[in-house]
Amino acid sequence: MEELFQKLISVNTDILMLSLLTFFFTVEQIINRASLPPNRIPHLLHGIPLFVGYLILNFGLAFMVVFCVNWIVENQIGLFNQIQIPYVFKIIIGVFCLDFVSYWFHRGYHTFSVLWRLHRVHHSDTTMDSSTFLRFHPLDWFLDNSSVLVACFIFGLDLNIVVFNFILYLPLFIMHHSLFVFPAWFDRTFGKIIVSPNFHKVHHHQNQEFTDTNYGNIFIFWDKLFGTYKTLPVSEIKYGLTEFDTTERQSFWFLLKSPFINIKRNE
Ligand SMILES: [Zn+2]
Ligand SMILES: [Zn+2]
Repeated sequence: MEELFQKLISVNTDILMLSLLTFFFTVEQIINRASLPPNRIPHLLHGIPLFVGYLILNFGLAFMVVFCVNWIVENQIGLFNQIQIPYVFKIIIGVFCLDFVSYWFHRGYHTFSVLWRLHRVHHSDTTMDSSTFLRFHPLDWFLDNSSVLVACFIFGLDLNIVVFNFILYLPLFIMHHSLFVFPAWFDRTFGKIIVSPNFHKVHHHQNQEFTDTNYGNIFIFWDKLFGTYKTLPVSEIKYGLTEFDTTERQSFWFLLKSPFINIKRNE
């Protein structure tokens, strides 16, 4: 078991990310051939440079996260460093803790206008497919890394748990944005525990009443517990933000500079 865990966390996450993305994008192309969005390729091409921005920034970010988490471990900071529990429990509870903190960070991106300026790049997407995964402002990833550091600091988590959580979340993260509409039975069963793709799509509705719901990454508990859970049939969802709904505002260059431009949020 421990050997399997070690093998899993030694996977190169950048290669895994690109492999999963290529896989989902290709399957969407084959299965959804009749209903592919007409702007699928330009959509992909505007997302790629944003992701390249992340990869460049990630050289520095990865170094910062590794340094800080190792410092936390060496100095025995955080809840789990004060109590003796088997490592396997620490891994399982650690995944919940990372997801819990990321839920509150995500709520924060929607609450504080300075953070929303970065995060709205992801929400501005009027077309939803697996390549929406690429549509994040490079500085938005900086916020996500801050969420990981806060969780490690409070709960005393190590790098292995952080990497394990990321590998667990990654396929779900890409599926959240895929073109596939998952059947109702999927939501009824798995949706009791995880954030199903249909739930995350509600989070991408243009209407703020729905945008400000379903913040969870892996688990749906937090939304249900803190009153931010909402459902809506995928066929009734209109993606994006009306203030970004022009060809010019969907371009890479506009998205990159958009956090530094005053754009009124239409509700
Ligand atoms: Zn969001
Ligand atoms: Zn999303």
